[in-house]
Amino acid sequence: MGQLNINRVQKFFGQFEVLKSVDLEVREGEFVVFVGPSGCGKSTLLRMIAGLEDTTRGDIVIDGVRVNDLPPVRRGIAMVFQSYALYPHMTVFENIAFPLRVEGMEEGKLRQKVEDAARILHLEQRLEQKPGMLSGGQRQRVAIGRAIVREPKIFLFDEPLSNLDAALRADMRIELAKLHKRLKATMIYVTHDQVEAMTMADRIVVMNAGGIAQTGAPLELYHKPANLFVAGFIGNPK
Ligand code: ADP
Ligand code: MG
Repeated sequence: MGQLNINRVQKFFGQFEVLKSVDLEVREGEFVVFVGPSGCGKSTLLRMIAGLEDTTRGDIVIDGVRVNDLPPVRRGIAMVFQSYALYPHMTVFENIAFPLRVEGMEEGKLRQKVEDAARILHLEQRLEQKPGMLSGGQRQRVAIGRAIVREPKIFLFDEPLSNLDAALRADMRIELAKLHKRLKATMIYVTHDQVEAMTMADRIVVMNAGGIAQTGAPLELYHKPANLFVAGFIGNPK
């Protein structure tokens, strides 16, 4: 569970073609990292996979089912943003529990799920605090906790660490790698940080101007960039 196929997906905002017939297959359990210049369409593509944005043309298929017309909550996907989007007046517990409350989950089961997620993310001691009391890294963990409790087949991360300082980013990279190993979920991760891409990815997708410039394993792209553009992002330009 967690296979994603993007078939000839195109997106227009008015007259502007933001995505130009993108094809991509992401296998179950894969950790795929998207890189590319600002404005090339990475967030738009993620939002389309999540169902937060319509698709102009093409199909988004999850585990063999075309999901274009399914609302976000029915796609088995959870998205984590750069801005943590936590509710400042709610405790950490209630922030993580929020999607389960919306589902109407029974209290005992809900508590169990939130506590499990908090344990994985080292937030057990923080559950009764408000987000304002937490560090940036802890806040991002809360946002990830809110994604985990939904037990998605696919996680989408849109530059989740870019608001953190270098040391915290390094910690969080390790935490996310552990999480991926533990949950065995498919993860799609957007970053502009080459170190993140090189260290976290099973496969890197380099995007440019609404299309895919190259995809491959990190070392493959590093040593054999298809063109100067890819070389400039990932490769070894010599
Ligand atoms: P990235 O995440 O790679 O930086 P985005 O997907 O955010 O790029 O944006 C791709 C392009 O689409 C940009 O030129 C951006 O200005 C444009 N865009 C994004 N969202 C909208 C929108 N809601 N309406 C019009 N244009 C948009
Ligand atoms: Mg973006």
